Amino acid sequence: MIRLSERVYYIKAVEEPLSADVGVVFGDRAAWLYDVGNSPAVSAELKGIGLPKIAVLSHFHPDHTGGLGDIAAEKVYLSAYTRKYIGFGDTVVEDVYINDGIELRIFPLPSSHSKGALGLETQGFAFLGDGIYSMQKGGRNVYNATLLKDTLDCLKRLGAKTFLLSHDPQYACPRDEVIAWLEEICSRRRKEEAYIEIKE
Ligand SMILES: [Zn+2]
Repeated sequence: MIRLSERVYYIKAVEEPLSADVGVVFGDRAAWLYDVGNSPAVSAELKGIGLPKIAVLSHFHPDHTGGLGDIAAEKVYLSAYTRKYIGFGDTVVEDVYINDGIELRIFPLPSSHSKGALGLETQGFAFLGDGIYSMQKGGRNVYNATLLKDTLDCLKRLGAKTFLLSHDPQYACPRDEVIAWLEEICSRRRKEEAYIEIKE
């Protein structure tokens, strides 16, 4: 586990098998996991944490959720859309505030990347999963222009100074840089076009 602060850690994403970064936040009573990855090695590491585990799923993609069956989470927070894939869990439809010795806030994150994305804000960090990324459409990488604006509005309301981005080699990115990057993409929108294509 890589340390970001006294209470906030993460397990780095791996490519083979594809498994997203897993955020681990230590509350007084429970370990709060933001995603669970999709690799036996990650599941083993999570099982080794000697606290009850509560999972928050960023979105439904298997590299973020596949390990759920292996880790015996006592509770799972997810969106209604993710729940269709997972089949159980506590549905988040609006901001959920939790106090576990530290304050945590789970929030719906408007996202071009997938329906039903959730973010987690705590201790000056905002876990965003893949929520700020583009999607594939007809072989192109695109943002839905309307959703991208909603994403930006949501990000600007966050108090966190550090955004945590799945699969990004840097992972912990300054808030202002991420917002400037997305605003630049937003500014490329051509009039009347619903999608903004990006090169990756
Ligand atoms: Zn994804």
